[in-house]
Amino acid sequence: MTSTARFSARPTWKRFGAMLHPSSASNGLNFTQVLVAGTAAVPHRLGTSIISLTQNSSRVAVGFSDGSVGKYDLVVGADGISSTVRALALGNASPVDLGAMNWRSVAPIRPRGLTALTFLLGDRSFFGLCPVGEGRTYGFGYVMQTRLRDPQEGRLERLRARFAAFGDVVQEYLISLERDEQVHCSAMEWVDVDDWFTGRVVLIGDAAHASSPLMGQGGCMAMEDACVLAEVLRSAATVESALSDYVVRRKPRVTWVQQQSIAAAESLGMPPVIRNAALRERGDQMMHSRFKPLVPAP
Ligand SMILES: Cc1cc2nc3c(=O)[nH]c(=O)nc-3n(C[C@H](O)[C@H](O)[C@H](O)COP(=O)(O)OP(=O)(O)OC[C@H]3O[C@@H](n4cnc5c(N)ncnc54)[C@H](O)[C@@H]3O)c2cc1C
Repeated sequence: MTSTARFSARPTWKRFGAMLHPSSASNGLNFTQVLVAGTAAVPHRLGTSIISLTQNSSRVAVGFSDGSVGKYDLVVGADGISSTVRALALGNASPVDLGAMNWRSVAPIRPRGLTALTFLLGDRSFFGLCPVGEGRTYGFGYVMQTRLRDPQEGRLERLRARFAAFGDVVQEYLISLERDEQVHCSAMEWVDVDDWFTGRVVLIGDAAHASSPLMGQGGCMAMEDACVLAEVLRSAATVESALSDYVVRRKPRVTWVQQQSIAAAESLGMPPVIRNAALRERGDQMMHSRFKPLVPAP
């Protein structure tokens, strides 16, 4: 039987609000729609991918899988944790396994009494619940264990069994899910590369610095990277100096998030009795000191 403890992030939520998760805005804002509208005027091509990158001091030549080649002033690799751009331009630093598995889903209900991001802690595991728009709830179960393959068939039943000892609020959430396909399962990994750019090829988001999800900041950091990169490109004299400025501005903040994520994972692995006592006594303060440095604009 797993002993569980409930930890509400309400004080942090009240102070820092939706920064904990881009989808936590409960004002009906659909983030995907915002992104799609924002990029409507940007020329784009679908159905092809990058297969080669060669650059000289002024241009990058990109070879695509449909046989075409394009020449660009700058290439931005925003292609996630298994980035092809990273592999082609900066050598293939493979993601590192974090020794944890995660099951994520969005349920069409709001469990009774859930008004803020809440964690239910078990032994080397937790279940998090986060209210999102239109009365729905984002749920994520995290277990520190060796990587496993959890086939889609029967996944929901196994998820329910895995977290059966967790409180009512989790049970209400899990019971409202109906299909295996609603549950996304992945092994937790992170990326730690020294260089985020070479010449005129630059990485942003998970491609540069995927992190353990325990700070809930990966998406936020990816969006901040994009904003800062746009800012420095507008103001710097050359592309090269803009990319240096981008790294100088972003590294400290991203490193903080990565370090705090690891620290949070380590405290999750502590014996529950010690961890729970520490959280009861200093949980709010710990959350506050973890997130406060992220409040000023990046
Ligand atoms: C379990 C879990 C929980 C998380 N919780 C949170 C949270 O609460 N808050 C938060 O802010 N972050 C969270 N994150 C992190 C967040 O999901 C990522 O940090 C974020 O999605 C990174 O954004 P990105 O744009 O860099 O990469 P991605 O979101 O991975 O996007 C990369 C895109 O590139 C595309 N792509 C890949 N390769 C190619 C190619 N060769 N050609 C063309 N396209 C390609 C992919 O299809 C994808 O659409 C969580 C992550 C995990 C694993």
